[in-house]
Parts: sequence; C-alpha cells; structure tokens
Amino acid sequence: HVAPPPRCAVASRAMSAEAPLGVTPAAAAAEGEEMVAVVDEMAEEAAVWCAVHGLVVGDRAEPHFCHHLQRSGTLPGVGLVHAPFALLPTRFPASFWKQARELAPIFNDLVDRVSLDGEFLQDSLSRTRQVDDFTSRLLDIHAKMMEVNKEEDIRLGLHRSDYMLDSETNSLLQIELNTISSSFPGLSSLVSELHRRTLLNRHGKVLGLDSKRIPQNWAATQFAEALSMAWTEFNNKSAVIMMVVQPEERNMYDQYWLINHLKESHGVKTIRKTLAQVEAEGQVLPDGTLVVDGQTVSVVYFRAGYSPNDYPSEAEWRARLLMEQSSAIKCPSISYHLVGTKKIQQELAKPNILERFLNNKEDISKLRKCFAGLWSLDNEEIVKTAIEKPDLFVLKPQREGGGNNIYGHDLRETLVRLQKEQGEALAAYILMQRIFPRASLTHLVQGGVCFEDLTISELGIFGAYLRNKDKVVLNNQCGYLMRTKVSSSNEGGVAAGFAVLDSILLT
Ligand code: ADP
Ligand code: MG
Ligand code: MG
Repeated sequence: HVAPPPRCAVASRAMSAEAPLGVTPAAAAAEGEEMVAVVDEMAEEAAVWCAVHGLVVGDRAEPHFCHHLQRSGTLPGVGLVHAPFALLPTRFPASFWKQARELAPIFNDLVDRVSLDGEFLQDSLSRTRQVDDFTSRLLDIHAKMMEVNKEEDIRLGLHRSDYMLDSETNSLLQIELNTISSSFPGLSSLVSELHRRTLLNRHGKVLGLDSKRIPQNWAATQFAEALSMAWTEFNNKSAVIMMVVQPEERNMYDQYWLINHLKESHGVKTIRKTLAQVEAEGQVLPDGTLVVDGQTVSVVYFRAGYSPNDYPSEAEWRARLLMEQSSAIKCPSISYHLVGTKKIQQELAKPNILERFLNNKEDISKLRKCFAGLWSLDNEEIVKTAIEKPDLFVLKPQREGGGNNIYGHDLRETLVRLQKEQGEALAAYILMQRIFPRASLTHLVQGGVCFEDLTISELGIFGAYLRNKDKVVLNNQCGYLMRTKVSSSNEGGVAAGFAVLDSILLT
C-alpha cells in the first residue's frame, strides 16, 4: 500500500512566471501560494471532469480496508476512481508527431506480411522456445495451425506502437509494437478532451497554452469502428463480438468505452468472457463456427491472454486453441500475437530482414530510422559491453504488460548469472539500447491528490488494419496514447501503476 504523495508544494515552470526584479520575498511567497491554490483548484476540477465523463478505473486500494473495493475489478460500477492523469498536456514536437503517425500503416502492413511467414516466426523463436515456457505454448498453437494449413482470410490488427524521444540523438525511437491487448484506446481519447477543457477554461490564457495545439484523439471511436468493420466482413447479422477479458480487470472502463461505441454507433453486441468461460461454454461447430454461451462469435478481441498469469491451468490453453481453430476473426491471431514479441522485434531490426517482407524502399528506411539498438544474447561482444555499462541497456524477456524488464545493477547480475548457467538460458531475453528522454516537471494527479515531479513520456500511436483476402479494408493510424511517468521509475505501465495518462501539446 503506497502512502499518498504530498500535495502540490511547488508551482511548475510552465505556470510560474519569472519573478520580476524588485519583487519582495513576501510578495513572491504570496504569489507562490496563489499558484498552489490555482493548481489545487485545477486538479479538483479535472478530477470532477473525469468522474462525470467516465475517465475512470477500478480502485486498487487495499480491499482489507474497504470491503466493497474488493469487487472494483470484477463488478462494473463498483469502487471507481479517476484514472491517474497529468494535469496539463506535455509538449511534443509536431515533426515527431507526424513521423510517428506515418509509421502506423507501415507497421500494420509489416505485421501482416510477417504473420504469413510461419517458418520465419518458428525459426526466429526456436531458441527462445527451449527456455521460455509461455512462448513455447504459443508456438505450439501456431505450429498446429501450420500443420493443418489454417488460413485466416479476414485479418484484424489493433496495434499500438510506442515511442520515446531520445535526447542524445534527438530522434524518435520505438520502444515496442503491441499486437495484442493494446490498451487505453478508450480512456486516452478522454484525456485529450480533459486537457482541452482545462486550457479552454480561464487557466489556458493565464498559462499561455493554446488548446488547439492538442490534437484530436479518436482512438476509442476508431477502434470500435475497426471492430465493427470486421464484424461486417464476417457477414452474419446475428453474430456477436467477444472480448476475452481477465477475471479481475481494473481497466475495464477502457474496454467498456469500446463496447459502448459498438452498441450505440454500430448496433453490434459485445460479450465479455474469460478464457476459463470460453473453455466451459465454447465449442467449434463442424463448419468452423465458434459458438460461446449459445452465441455465434464473429470477432474474438483479446484483452487478456498476453501473460502467463492469464493461463493458470490447461483449461485456458484449451480455450486459446479452440478459438484459434475456429473461423472467427481473431484480434490478434496467434501469428499476429507472435509478431509482436520482443524477439521478433529484435529479429526484424537485423540487416536485410525488413527487405524480405516489404518492397517499398522508403517505407523500409522510415521503419529503420525508428529502430533502437536491439541485440540477441548470442552476441558475446554486446553481452560483455552490457555487463560493463548496464545503464546503457534494457534487458527484456518475452513478456507484456509492464514490470518485466531488467535495468542497471540487476541487469549486470542477471547477465553474469545467465552466462554461468550453461545452455540456452540467455535465449529467453533480448538486449535493447536504453533510450533517454529529456525530463521535465509535471503535475501528476493520482487518487485525487496532485503532486509535482520530474517526468519522462512515452507516445503510443494506435493503428488499425483489416483485410479480407486480397482487399485491404482498413490501414490507418487511430489516435494516440501519451503516458508520463516519474523519471526515476524504469517501467511505464499505467495499469501497472507506474505512469499517468497524458496528452500532447504540439510545439
Ligand atoms: P511491455 O510489453 O511490458 O510494455 P516495454 O518494452 O514497453 O514492455 O517496456 C516497458 C517499459 O519499460 C516501457 O513503457 C518504458 O517505460 C520502459 N522501456 C522499455 N524499453 C526501454 C528502452 N529501450 N529505453 C528506456 N526505457 C525503456
Ligand atoms: Mg507490450
Ligand atoms: Mg510497453
């Protein structure tokens, strides 16, 4: 249980005008106090805005103290709290914003091309498989589909490519590409709206920040539209969309935003099922139709299944296989899922690999420009360098959802230990160049309390891709997710409790 942070004690640089010469200390102190009052008022107004506009998550307070909160991750409408957010949008250069958006359709295309090369996926992950049980299980399902020549005519990708601005090289570098359970399309749209409202109030003028420089963010409606378009391609009016969810999910309102749009704007019904429920209630008919709880499923949209924790027993793995065997559209398919692994990210960064999958030279060079240094651990030279200078690297296992990477001192210790262990232990990881974004002061609001800290940010661009055989129905960027975290924290997840939701102010 983390103690609440102190209330705003300092006004941010953006907010405090330089004290003019000749101002007495008493006057400066009074102005400082006034600033604190303004910040607290803004934070309160913003928290209220969150509550009345659905920018909320389930409360993670200790269930021991507050009995009803125990169900905040299982029962809708119980134990809500505003999502953690930055009080003001973070400045972001328009050129990098444009660059990141342009990359989205290229990455969408790349994922699709790579997904069709089953041998490449199996080969690239073959050494990982020997030491990583989770990846191995995913590969088993993939191999089964290859054996029966399973073809996915309709393919839907809802991705999010994440970037940081590297201050040393002043470049936009990709952190990772998420192909499964890309989160926050629902809530991120609202944060842009919240910030626009904040700046449109009298505060915007005082701060000299123009609300028009916050780009519109349609992630929620665009993801819902992509799902509905897939539903349309499936061409069965009575079929539902099935969202596969974790049994306990504090980020459920992000998901319900999509469900709500699907219903209100597209008239499409969504059911939510856990992997265990799919196993208990699901079947595949002889013609391939997936039926769960008596309903035909058009699209399986995974918001679970990306972590070993999602498969506590064989039942969950049976559910995953069952869905993969069906003719329902999988978002993602097992191939798309594997393309999003850290290992494949590293393989694609090797020389001459992109050329195998893409023809357009310009596209290839755009992608390569955003690749950070990525290495497999059979490169002895780089392992040696990483042991000597661990702060320049991040060690990553094949995991998703935040909190899994290894940094600094731990990185060195882990590499030394894995080197000693004979065999393939190193193959479970990749090494990545550590990116150093410039830190800035930000007001963060968590649990109704505002505090100021040095932060760094990560920009995610959502992308949607839909194709039916040879026809590309949709290939677009779909809005963005800005996450800001205290710069002393290594990891970045909002759901994992490391970061707050943010938006951008183009400069
Ligand atoms: P996950 O799939 O668990 O989200 P990521 O690769 O996104 O894994 O890593 C989690 C977090 O770790 C990121 O959000 C970012 O804050 C930090 N991180 C990852 N890679 C780097 C890197 N190369 N340099 C600096 N920070 C990184
Ligand atoms: Mg990820
Ligand atoms: Mg990530």
